[in-house]
Amino acid sequence: DQEQPKKPSWIRVKAPTSEGYKQTRDIMRENRLSTVCEEAGCPNVGECWSQGHATMMIMGEICTRGCTFCNVATGKPNALDVFEPGRVAHAVQKLGLNHVVITSVDRDDLDDGGAEHFAQTIRAIRHRSPSSTIEVLTPDFLKSKPGALEIVVEARPDVFNHNLETVPHLYPTVRPGARYFHSLRLLQKVKELDPAMFTKSGIMVGLGEDRGSVLQVMDDMRAADIDFMTIGQYLQPTPKHHRVDRFVTPEEFAGYEKSAYGKGFLMVSATPLTRSSYHAGDDFAQLRDA
Ligand code: SF4
Ligand code: SF4
Repeated sequence: DQEQPKKPSWIRVKAPTSEGYKQTRDIMRENRLSTVCEEAGCPNVGECWSQGHATMMIMGEICTRGCTFCNVATGKPNALDVFEPGRVAHAVQKLGLNHVVITSVDRDDLDDGGAEHFAQTIRAIRHRSPSSTIEVLTPDFLKSKPGALEIVVEARPDVFNHNLETVPHLYPTVRPGARYFHSLRLLQKVKELDPAMFTKSGIMVGLGEDRGSVLQVMDDMRAADIDFMTIGQYLQPTPKHHRVDRFVTPEEFAGYEKSAYGKGFLMVSATPLTRSSYHAGDDFAQLRDA
């Protein structure tokens, strides 16, 4: 019963070959930066990188959690690199990014969960690229000392993103170590701390959830004042990871998008290849200029 459903035609990924892709890769390597685009084997890497859009992962490549959908290594992380915020800012400037997404592994080993490192990275980018918009995609700070979240919010990212990843009843198998309502509350608190900051969250589908529980997640998100929502198809990074339960059809995704707009989200992306950071910049620019 562990056999995977066959990949449908709408999950097609072109091999990345463009000049823009190579340039992004080279600048990341030169600055010793890792990207989620590569680490997670994101299907959009060719498209995003040829448009100078990338999601950088700070605080190392080893995570203290072990989510079953995620390809990042679990273990004891390395010490923080104090020069990393500067290298990220340098890369953002060199790539001329209009919108940058900064994310990290989970750092339960640090008192502040890495909040100060996030804040320093935001400040370093602002300093070098004042017109770039900055989105952070943070861990849940579940085990951090009080005040960690505030440190990130005070650095004023334009968008605060934290993913719920899946529906609550799948947390034990998909996101062990995390708590659904803690994550919701985190986003609600961001809005309370700074009502002008956009909040964003997303889930993957095809993990075994049903439509009713996805709609419930949307309601929970709106009750927590979350502005933007992303929904994408889960793809299994390796055979050791959580299996794909099913491939959700493009029509079902369109239905989710419609429902989400109906519930009052400002921006929704729901397609098979939607990822948390997919076209984030274009969407943000549209909203800002509206
Ligand atoms: Fe990177 Fe996000 Fe684009 Fe995937 S969707 S390639 S993670 S920027
Ligand atoms: Fe992957 Fe994030 Fe889970 Fe760590 S916390 S295993 S980086 S999804």
